[in-house]
This record gives sequence, C-alpha cells and structure tokens, in this order.
Amino acid sequence: MSDTVFVTGGAGYIGSHACKALRAAGYAPVTLDNLSTGWEDAVKFGPFERGDLTDRAWLDDVFAKYAPIAVMHFAAFSQVGESMTDPAKYWRNNVVGSLTLVEAAVAAKCMNFVFSSTCATYGDQDNVVLDENSVQLPINSYGASKKAVEEILANFEQAFGLNHVIFRYFNVAGCDPEAEVGEFHQPETHLIPLMLDAISGKRDALTIFGTDYDTPDGTCIRDYVHVCDLVGAHVLGLKWLMDGKGSRVFNLGTGQGFSVREVVDHSRAVTNMDVPIIEGERRAGDCTKLVSGSERAVVELGWTPTRSNLKDMIADAWRWHQSGHYEK
Ligand code: UDP
Repeated sequence: MSDTVFVTGGAGYIGSHACKALRAAGYAPVTLDNLSTGWEDAVKFGPFERGDLTDRAWLDDVFAKYAPIAVMHFAAFSQVGESMTDPAKYWRNNVVGSLTLVEAAVAAKCMNFVFSSTCATYGDQDNVVLDENSVQLPINSYGASKKAVEEILANFEQAFGLNHVIFRYFNVAGCDPEAEVGEFHQPETHLIPLMLDAISGKRDALTIFGTDYDTPDGTCIRDYVHVCDLVGAHVLGLKWLMDGKGSRVFNLGTGQGFSVREVVDHSRAVTNMDVPIIEGERRAGDCTKLVSGSERAVVELGWTPTRSNLKDMIADAWRWHQSGHYEK
C-alpha cells in the first residue's frame, strides 16, 4: 500500500496539482478541504474528506482513519487585497486553522509537515533579491498570517520535534499541461487568468494596478513559477523530510522578475490576440518588486524547474482556459 499524505486544500489550484504529482510519485494523497474556495471535481487523485481545519474533532477522526506519513498544508485564503480589508478572515482561517491542524498532526504522531508559505512574508524591500535569510516584514494581513504559521511550526519543532519544510512561493502560474486540473478562483484576482479573460472577451479589459511604481516601466515586478515545477519541489521536500534531513525553509521562484506590462506583452505573443488594458490605481498591499533568490532549492533539494518561463506558463494557462473545464 502506498504511503498516505494529507493534502489540505487539495480541491484548490495548487493542492489539486500537488495531488497529481504525489500520485505520480507513488504516494496516496488524501484531500482535506472545506470547499470554501475549492472544487470537488478537482479531487481526482485520491479520497476526499470534507471538513474545516478549525474542527479538531473532525481532524482527529481523519488522522485516525488514514494514519498519514505527512501533511502538505495548502488550504488558506490568499488574496492580498481582501486581506487588507478583512484581516480577521485571514487570521482566523489561515492561523487558527493551521494551529489546529498542527496540533492534531502532533497528537496523531504525524511529524512530517510541508507548509505553503509566501514571498509576501518578506514585504516591500526595495530592489533586493529576497533569499531565505532576508528579514520578514509583511505589509499585508495575508503575509502576516503566513509568517505567523511559520513561527507556529518553529515552536512545535522546539516543543515536539515536528519536522517541517516551509516553501515560500513567489507568483504561481500556469496549469497542468494535460489540463486534467487547472486554476479556477471565484472571484478571480490573479493577473494571468484575468488577462486571459480579457483576451477571450469574458471580461472587457485587464486593469493594470498602478503604473507609477519605481520600476523601469512603472508596473509591479513579480517572479512567476509554474505550478507543476512548484508541486515538484513539494514532492522533493517530502522526500527530504522522509530522509530525516530536518526542518528547512526554501524559496520557490526563478530569480527572474517580470513587470505586469511584460506579462501582458508575452500574453499577446503567446495567444496572438490583443489584451485590452485599462491603466488603474495601485492595489492596497501590493509590493513594488518580489524576486526570489532561489539557489537553495536547486542546490539542496535538487529542484530543476522546467516549465517556469512565461511562454509555457501562459500557454498552459491558455489551454486550460480554452478547455471546457474552466467554465463552472
Ligand atoms: N495585477 C494587475 N491587475 C490585475 C491583477 C493583478 O495589475 O487585475 C498585478 C498586481 O498588482 C501584481 C501582479 O499583477 O503586481 C500579480 O498579482 P496577483 O494578484 O496575480 O498575485 P500577487 O502578487 O498579489 O500574489
């Protein structure tokens, strides 16, 4: 029998791709999801248990039922803008839910934990490449909530020996090239799917949030990483823990930043279609530039991203966007 791995948020964008990668690597993923933002039809690679991470009794039941060897924890609210207007939502779900999950894992003696964190924990640090030793100064509640969970994990390691790998993601993009799973948020807030909506006429235009940033073309710079490369790193992180290599933090990005306008230009080239644009105001909580120093994952985990270039990310997202799956 394959080793069971819990995947919280397995019905969501990154979690569903992680389930596919885990299955391909010989693990048995079990999705835990409350379907607040996920989709049951995205759970294709193993059992589904519906419940909320703040529900300790439910968690104790599912840990007893499956005895997983590890937890991969993706479930979280992740919209920077919303986190600025509704911080309680982020602290309750992302922090209280994670704390309850970590307590339940330790109680069940499941001592291997992979956590989905974010470059938003670093905050707005002008024109520096951010590596794992950079100071963490989040400027939005989303980043603050993820940083708090990182601290919870460190404390639980000190107290109980909880082994954990923390991945700080830069901007995750693209989809499964086979379009078995993909990206669908309701409402959608992310740049590439919104742009594809504008290209396909599903929306009137893409609004660029701010053109007066201190960057060469005035728009924000981000480091985009393909979701398949990202979840591949998680499988390596799981092996790292199973090999007893201990707790570690890894950035996941490419080290290359692209402005919003550059992403728009690439999308025009990939789709061969026009992107209607509106130049709008800045969005609260946005950092000017987030670019990863990502050698650690390459050197220590042996991570070799293969699809994290804008052309493949946009082409894969476009294929998914044009498949019937995208319409819910
Ligand atoms: N962005 C934009 N228009 C949109 C959505 C996003 O200009 O409709 C910009 C946003 O300001 C940021 C970048 O695109 O600079 C990536 O934003 P996204 O929401 O995709 O990810 P985030 O960086 O917030 O995690």
